[in-house]
Amino acid sequence: MNLDRDTAALRRMIAQARRVAIFTGAGISTESGIPDFRSPDGIWTRLAPIDFAAFLASEEARREAWRRKFASDGVIRTARPNRGHRAVAELVRRDKAAAVITQNIDGLHQASGIPEAQIIELHGNTTYALCLDCAARYEIDDLRRAFARDEAPPRCAECRGIVKTATISFGQPMPGEAMRRAEIETRAADLFVVLGSSLVVYPAAGFPELAKRNGAALAIINREATPLDGLADLVLRGSIGETLGAAVDID
Ligand code: NAD
Ligand code: ZN
Repeated sequence: MNLDRDTAALRRMIAQARRVAIFTGAGISTESGIPDFRSPDGIWTRLAPIDFAAFLASEEARREAWRRKFASDGVIRTARPNRGHRAVAELVRRDKAAAVITQNIDGLHQASGIPEAQIIELHGNTTYALCLDCAARYEIDDLRRAFARDEAPPRCAECRGIVKTATISFGQPMPGEAMRRAEIETRAADLFVVLGSSLVVYPAAGFPELAKRNGAALAIINREATPLDGLADLVLRGSIGETLGAAVDID
């Protein structure tokens, strides 16, 4: 096999590691056709996000949030895991990686076959919705049909609470259980691999810093520079699918 020097280095790091923690961001899903946020053609170059306080405060903000959700939903519904997701799933299958810590909300790690118990979602999941008061679950297809009738933002059928996609918006408290599990996995790892994250969103970006402080090696695969590149033992600028796919022997 003819690997370039960096890919070979990544392969060696993985081989030498006892326990790998994988940390993914929007960049791992761009090869599945889902745009990221901060690339030049990312989502936020077009629309400012609606934060949690605004969502709670006004019916109009909720209507706008749901309009955007339904307008962009087709992409996530039809997206399939790509070579990068498959390579991550292979590392989990080999028991090399105990868990995947993800900032993504698209459900593609689940779709790649990784058991739910080994996926830690820091920013929730946009493929279903929850009542903010009683946590009753709602399916997006049902909500879309109801919204199409009168554009009324959904309310909980059980308690009339506000229903929101199961994602964590800016200003919304982080999910405690996911944060705890992510910290445990980070501390347990001797290799921490970042895949496709600009590493500017905290507290999520604190995990690679914690891994490094804790003595783990740090590898970052990202097309653009990140603020933590200087901390990393290995920085790869290629595409995630190609680089990790080759390092793990996955097509
Ligand atoms: P980000 O958009 O800030 O950064 C993504 C990074 O990935 C960029 O630096 C980009 O250069 C790099 N990248 C893109 N495609 C790549 C590829 N194929 N190979 C290598 N590098 C690639 O993403 P973030 O750090 O995850 O933070 C954004 C927030 O947006 C997260 O909190 C997440 O919840 C949310 N988000 C999620 C999705 C998703 O679930 N797919 C999509 C958009 C945004
Ligand atoms: Zn409710």
